[in-house]
Amino acid sequence: MVAMTLPSHLQHAQHWIDGRETPSSGDQRIDVINPANQSVIASTPAGTIADVDTAVSAAQRAFRAGSWSRISGRERAAVLLRAAAALRQQADQLAQVESMDVGKPISFATAVDVNTAAETYEYAAALAQQLDGAVRRTPLPAHAYTQREPLGVVAAITPFNFPLILSTTKIAFALAAGNTIVHKPAEDTPLSALFVARILTEAGVPDGVYNLVTGYGREIGEHLVTHPDVAKVAFTGSSTTGAHLAELAGRHLRPLTAELGGNAANIVFADADVEQAIQTTISAFVFNTGQFCMGGPRLLVQRDLLEPMLEALAAALPHVPLGDPSQPETVIGPVATSRQREKIASAVKQAVDAGATLVTGGQALDLDGGLYFQPTVLTGVDNSAEAVQEEIFGPVLTVQAFDTEAEAIELANSTRYGLAAGVQTTDISRAHRVADALEAGIVWVNSWSMLDPAMPFGGVKDSGWGRENGPEQMESYTRTKSVIIALAPDPEGQASNAAEGEVQ
Ligand code: ADP
Repeated sequence: MVAMTLPSHLQHAQHWIDGRETPSSGDQRIDVINPANQSVIASTPAGTIADVDTAVSAAQRAFRAGSWSRISGRERAAVLLRAAAALRQQADQLAQVESMDVGKPISFATAVDVNTAAETYEYAAALAQQLDGAVRRTPLPAHAYTQREPLGVVAAITPFNFPLILSTTKIAFALAAGNTIVHKPAEDTPLSALFVARILTEAGVPDGVYNLVTGYGREIGEHLVTHPDVAKVAFTGSSTTGAHLAELAGRHLRPLTAELGGNAANIVFADADVEQAIQTTISAFVFNTGQFCMGGPRLLVQRDLLEPMLEALAAALPHVPLGDPSQPETVIGPVATSRQREKIASAVKQAVDAGATLVTGGQALDLDGGLYFQPTVLTGVDNSAEAVQEEIFGPVLTVQAFDTEAEAIELANSTRYGLAAGVQTTDISRAHRVADALEAGIVWVNSWSMLDPAMPFGGVKDSGWGRENGPEQMESYTRTKSVIIALAPDPEGQASNAAEGEVQ
């Protein structure tokens, strides 16, 4: 294993409140474990209710002071672009932090996680400059227009699997719109958020505009969501926690966006480019070691291709480079936490006990003491089995055969989730028909996991509410105010074009 050192401020980390490192009011700490060898690499505060109060007060003060919320979008954009440039300059270091914290293969952490974060700040900076209202021509004797305003303090709660990207999709857009933020990252993987906090302040985000409190969801997350000074909740995590937080936010009449679980179907039709379909199938379920809510853990394959696909997967998967995430060739790293690996192992065992056939994989591996799990393919699973219906969140693929397009669509839509889906076909009409019929927030045709800050994602059914990315997300971080200015009648009784909003 290549030795990497964490920046010293991350090793014994503090909260980041009001533009500086801020100690917790309590003395409990949470160890941060490198899943590639289970060594303790850092610790963060187990934040307290008092810490959340301090952070929300800082955010509320900063919002009211107006040095972020009331400046022009163009001025905010300049700061966000500086943050993006700093992310690019420090990409190698940040990718190493993310890799050590989550177990992500370093090549993906650089090319996907850090690059996407920088692109998201750049895209949000562009949208910050387009937060225009509209002049509405009405029959009223008035000049009437709308303007879009930031909401106030946004509570952002993020998960362990894509700490940098899923924090950035909230922070960049919330900041672009002029909000202030209190962010609680996942207790298992808080390091990239701490790294970025400093970058934001150095880029010129005023003190108190972005605040970060580390700690356990149940201990401080609920307090954050229900704090009277929070104006909106942005959450990514499990459907169970999302439903609970939606209830809490609802009680306080607070808008919430929630990007939750998923177990997308990847439908391979017999007319697909088979080589490409095999590669897509593999990357769809092993990317991020399967800890990807938009991954493709359910392969639905047209019956003629079932045996050839199973053979190809069994032949290819043992050769996908698995191991030390610091090595550039690694494709499958460890899973992020031992709790997660136990869940995966137990889901596989349960499926096999219930009659599924193990095509390949199925075992935990302890290379260097790391939390590895072999890429695993199961077939002969009933559609009602838990392995199909529930999210396993590991490198595990279930394979089912179908005969007709209608059957494929029915199987794809048969779970409670609906975040993503994929269609592999060379028939363009079929691609459109099936994409239209799938209950999912995003559909990939002849690919998997192409994402861009301009393209919204989010769920239907139990996969959540609202969309992240794109102009749709900016909408959710602003509200519209209508301003109607009565115009006095022309004292000389002449008709006035100006009253109709016309420019002479
Ligand atoms: P997972 O660990 O499966 O990604 P969770 O929904 O448990 O999903 O966690 C996602 C985020 O939500 C984490 O930051 C976690 O600390 C936080 N969290 C978990 N439970 C709660 C809760 N009851 N209230 C607020 N936040 C929570």
